[in-house]
Amino acid sequence: MIPQTPSPLHELPISPSGIHWQNDFITPDHEARLVSLFLNELEWPDRTGRISLHYGYTFDYKTFGVDRTIPYKPFPAWLQSLIPATESRPPDQVCLQYYPRGAGIPPHVDSHRAWDQLYALSIGAPVLMQLRRGKQGERVDIDLTGRSMMQFKGDSRLHWTHGIKKRKTDVLADGTVRARGDRWSITYRWVREGHCECGDVELCDVAQERLGVEKEKRSVMAAKAQEDGLGSLG
Ligand SMILES: [Zn+2]
Repeated sequence: MIPQTPSPLHELPISPSGIHWQNDFITPDHEARLVSLFLNELEWPDRTGRISLHYGYTFDYKTFGVDRTIPYKPFPAWLQSLIPATESRPPDQVCLQYYPRGAGIPPHVDSHRAWDQLYALSIGAPVLMQLRRGKQGERVDIDLTGRSMMQFKGDSRLHWTHGIKKRKTDVLADGTVRARGDRWSITYRWVREGHCECGDVELCDVAQERLGVEKEKRSVMAAKAQEDGLGSLG
């Protein structure tokens, strides 16, 4: 048997549960080399705001899953040393995103249908990420510091949304106003095997789909009953 090495990530003792964290996933030198590579050696989409590059399978923003029409892109050498070693296989999809100062991402939950595990490595300037439960519910800020690796599991993965506000400064818990700066994130996703059974109708695309099918079945049954002269099923 291969001895299991303990995970270098530890769960944060906060609500929501399931956020696993590792400071210093890479050294400051390594981070500086990556930033130089991102700025000088990669070809980015030519537009302002948040921009992305995809490796492995490409993420399809229409279906929120893998776009099977685009060929698999092998991980470049610089990315191979940044793959989390805590899963049994490499991720299916990796997304490098550049957030210029002030950029954000709307609150969202990554598709339950498409994805299982979710990790993110932060590079460059820190930023506050906001987690929310429900539209009016609890809110929690997480400080995404440079060189930290985060994993969303359990509640934080399935039942809370995460997003980054569009703004040029963040107000920290102690009241300090912190200027934002250039930031990159690398997100790692593993395709889900089987179906999500969380049943969260607000956030789970599997649960929503099932509900939709049931609704359709119900209306078909109601129409049939009416045809048969049985009146509405109510
Ligand atoms: Zn689900």
